[in-house]
Amino acid sequence: MQQHTSQRQAQSVMITGASSGIGLAIARAFASAGCHLMIGGREAPEEVQTLLTELSIEGAKSVHYNNADMADGEAVRAMVAAARHQMGSLDVLVNNAGIQHVAPVEDFPANAWQQVIDINLSAPFHAIGAAVPLMRDQGFGRIINIASVHGLVASVHKSAYVAAKHGLVGLTKTVALELARTPVTCNAICPAWVRTPLVEAQIEKRAADSGRSIAEEADLLVSEKQPTGRFVQPDDIAQMALYLTQPAASSISGSSFTLDGGWTAQ
Ligand code: NAD
Repeated sequence: MQQHTSQRQAQSVMITGASSGIGLAIARAFASAGCHLMIGGREAPEEVQTLLTELSIEGAKSVHYNNADMADGEAVRAMVAAARHQMGSLDVLVNNAGIQHVAPVEDFPANAWQQVIDINLSAPFHAIGAAVPLMRDQGFGRIINIASVHGLVASVHKSAYVAAKHGLVGLTKTVALELARTPVTCNAICPAWVRTPLVEAQIEKRAADSGRSIAEEADLLVSEKQPTGRFVQPDDIAQMALYLTQPAASSISGSSFTLDGGWTAQ
């Protein structure tokens, strides 16, 4: 039987959707750890120039940017190849890009359903499919999927998102089993509410519907399901991602880690 130790430190990291929110916090954590970075996002390169410079100043050995549309599977696969080419290796893949659409299932637009599934679930499938042979060949790999508490439980009016995130947790387990005898691990992180632009849009819509202030609506939103009553901090998720790439995490695979203030303990 082939033995492996997976004891090396990760040096090259690709993060999709890293121009904002949770992905950006993860990029900052790996920059501080002195890694090479491949950053994904929807923005044109000139819009993220300041951000890329900041990541270099924070310690990244090199910073590359790719604005491939995560709804386009071939573009996702090409981004993985570019990451490997530009960084010289691909040690860590963080599938983080995601979108949300909120509507009752009977009114849910079919194109919104398709976009959510394409970006939140099919993009990780394509990225993993392209990354696995590279990681297996180089003898090291860490795949981290940013799922959600909605990968484990449901909420109303989020049919596409809940379906995609449950799918992503399932994909994580399957990939972990397929790679169990290799030096590549695959895990999911399942956060609850984090106050990023993705959530800000939901708070604004709720405030517009209810007539309450943004601050009141933010408090209501977070206390409805999160027993702590506090938003999860983006850096808490980043530190978990960083941990999953450490030598001590080499036996962790196929797992889903909740950072949810007690949401799924109820
Ligand atoms: P965000 O809106 O702040 O960032 C989303 C990122 O994805 C941005 O960099 C954006 O450019 C990128 N992106 C979106 N569509 C894209 C496309 N078609 N092509 C390329 N890039 C695209 O969101 P966030 O809150 O930081 O969410 C990040 C991940 O965390 C998502 O997968 C989300 O589902 C998950 N998540 C978020 C929360 C939360 O409360 N914010 C909770 C649980 C899970």
